Amino acid sequence: MARILVLGAGFGGITVAYRLAALLGPEHPITVVAREANFVYLPSLPWVAVGTRQPQDIVAPLGPGLRRKGIRFVEAEVRAVDPDRRQVVVDAGVLRYDFLVIALGAELDWEALPGARTHSHNIHRLDGAVRIWEALQEFEAGEILIAIAAGADTPAPAYELAFLLDDYFRRRGRRRRIEIEIVTNEPRALDQGGDGASRVVARALEQRRIRLRTATRVRQAEPGCLVLEDGTRLGAELLFIDPPYRGPAPLHCSSLADAAGFVRCNLHMQNPDYPEVFAAGDCVALDGLKTGHNARLAGGVVAQNLAAVVGGGPPRARFRPSTLVDLPLGSRDAVFSIWKPSPPALGNWQIQITHAGRAPMWIKHALERYFLWQIGR
Ligand SMILES: Cc1cc2nc3c(=O)[nH]c(=O)nc-3n(C[C@H](O)[C@H](O)[C@H](O)COP(=O)(O)OP(=O)(O)OC[C@H]3O[C@@H](n4cnc5c(N)ncnc54)[C@H](O)[C@@H]3O)c2cc1C
Repeated sequence: MARILVLGAGFGGITVAYRLAALLGPEHPITVVAREANFVYLPSLPWVAVGTRQPQDIVAPLGPGLRRKGIRFVEAEVRAVDPDRRQVVVDAGVLRYDFLVIALGAELDWEALPGARTHSHNIHRLDGAVRIWEALQEFEAGEILIAIAAGADTPAPAYELAFLLDDYFRRRGRRRRIEIEIVTNEPRALDQGGDGASRVVARALEQRRIRLRTATRVRQAEPGCLVLEDGTRLGAELLFIDPPYRGPAPLHCSSLADAAGFVRCNLHMQNPDYPEVFAAGDCVALDGLKTGHNARLAGGVVAQNLAAVVGGGPPRARFRPSTLVDLPLGSRDAVFSIWKPSPPALGNWQIQITHAGRAPMWIKHALERYFLWQIGR
């Protein structure tokens, strides 16, 4: 019998737990630990910010779905991981493991941008999205600035927010009195989305009169003002900032992680120094966009490899990140773009498909319903 402990119940942790339970059966107990009893479907936060969704529409309780699959759920804050003793310290005690999966996501590094936490809004958490909705109720006219800092590894939601705000104010007849600008460290619009997505997004920004300032680093936020690296001060009545990411707090200064707290992994998603430790999702120190799509791909790799190792075999599955963008351009249309490496047997080339229109929006809605149903809504 192997005791398997999964830390985190986002896209990465849930994928690992569900697939492992199916692969291993009840002989090997699986425990999932997360600080919240609910799964929050993060891709729908921008819809909460503009009132298209209520917070309760995008959450699902974790416990019942996990228990139905024979998985134990512990609602607790993870404080520290001790890989030498094979134990995890949580606020209610200590949990021991034979195999550990770390899927704690990434943290927002507010200290890297002085003033940003206090003087700006943020779309990365449910309470932040609700506060944006409240702020919009009082906003009549002025400048809206959306800043993407260097090291903010998921830039797409900032673009989505700009498009949704444009649509929101247009529908209410207030758009003429409002300027919207995106300030980003990227060399072009949504650079990490690949050529196709970048082109569509740049054109859509232009058509909607949303200004884009590229290759620009932000330094700090002050009340009503964004300060750039070169000292330029940009005034804003509404300021949104995506700060850089860093690894989860329990991994800071851990031998499992790099200097920024991200878990070190090879392509089997296995820690090179502690082979009984695996990781998936935004907490991993690997190149590639930090997205739910990649967290699920990595989660599948972890489940396959962990099942193989528990059975006495070597890990064989390898993580091959790909880029999937499904980005609303307003309330009707979205752009869908997939950019992935070819299967290894077919050589070294890239597949990229981009399509903008109604269908990508239907896909976006369908994915939301599917994930929430899968968790147990
Ligand atoms: C606004 C927004 C829109 C997005 N849109 C998309 C999209 O359209 N498509 C896409 O693919 N990706 C999208 N993403 C990115 C995607 O949501 C993340 O990449 C994904 O959630 C990462 O999954 P994860 O499992 O690694 O981490 P998370 O989803 O962050 O889950 C982390 C888990 O760990 C738990 N946890 C963390 N720290 C502790 C602790 N100390 N103790 C106990 N529990 C802890 C949390 O409670 C949670 O259960 C979006 C992100 C945002 C913010």
